[in-house]
Amino acid sequence: MNLKMFPGQYRLCEKELNRAAEAAFSEHGLEDSQVELIIVSQKKIRELNHKYRAINKATDVLSFVIEKKPLIGQVFICYTIANKQAILQGKETNEEILDLFIHGLVHLLGHDHKTEIEERKMQKIEKELIKRSRMAENLIFLGPPGSGKGTQIEKLTKYLEAQIISSGDIVRSLAEKSPAIREIMQKGELVDDKTIFEEIKSKISKIEPDVGLIFDGFPRNINQAKELNGILKDNKRSLNHVIYVRLDEDEVVKRLTIRRVCAKCGQPLFDLETCPKCGGEAMIRQDDNEKTIRTRMKVFIAQTKPLVTYYKKTNLLVEINGKQTIEDVARDIKGAINCG
Ligand code: AMP
Repeated sequence: MNLKMFPGQYRLCEKELNRAAEAAFSEHGLEDSQVELIIVSQKKIRELNHKYRAINKATDVLSFVIEKKPLIGQVFICYTIANKQAILQGKETNEEILDLFIHGLVHLLGHDHKTEIEERKMQKIEKELIKRSRMAENLIFLGPPGSGKGTQIEKLTKYLEAQIISSGDIVRSLAEKSPAIREIMQKGELVDDKTIFEEIKSKISKIEPDVGLIFDGFPRNINQAKELNGILKDNKRSLNHVIYVRLDEDEVVKRLTIRRVCAKCGQPLFDLETCPKCGGEAMIRQDDNEKTIRTRMKVFIAQTKPLVTYYKKTNLLVEINGKQTIEDVARDIKGAINCG
């Protein structure tokens, strides 16, 4: 059987994929005619690839295809994942990915829905496929303290293969060894840029290039934003979205004065006594007192908020109303960046 696949930039592991697809078809007794189902509009894909490659937005191609032709879109995901792995691993598709590809195909063509357990398993695989198919995306979360950035980032990592870089966490760990940094933090002011840059650079250099980055609380001023541009460029990365979670000062104070976080990992715990992720106990952050919160808010308005205008000019800014339920904010974010 000659299974046609997508041309052009995705030719690296065409042979392996054909093999996988053939196996999927013969093992599961699918008809030749069904092959037609997965022949995508080659011209359209080529056009879109050409258009988006330059600005590193291949995920838009996926979203477009999924929206227009869900079945083909999902096959395209299977294919893209396998290819991405092939490219990363020196032109060899690993068995696990081939396996996912076969499962994906069989599932799509409706020959694998035997039991409810199987169905759930396939749904999990599909979710994983979608997650893995997104190229390494680099995102910034901007917003005043208490706007829910951390909570939303945590939720987003279920859909994106990305590592969180929180400059607040970095500063908190530095503060354990440095009384000077502790004092700055307790006042609610910003630590000097140089210290932050060194830590951020070292963190990024340890992250695999195919894993995205989500910046929480960095950059905090224009100088840091400019430095970040350089760091990303040095690491052959570029920014995909800047998400600004808007929240007014009264709401910030109201939320932060009652906020409890995990003493170990810093995750907000709301009413919980222990952290479901790491077992740490609930505590109130030292800088979550009204005086420091007001200073942090002033610093945000004077130094960080100008970044909203800065990133608006790059067309990467997405503005989200933070004064909604966690679920509604998450929905708006996912919608805005076309994910999940
Ligand atoms: P956060 O957890 O993001 O609210 O940060 C807590 C504190 O760490 C801030 O009030 C600052 O003192 C410091 N900090 C966090 N991120 C930065 C940054 N990018 N630049 C300078 N200081 C920072």
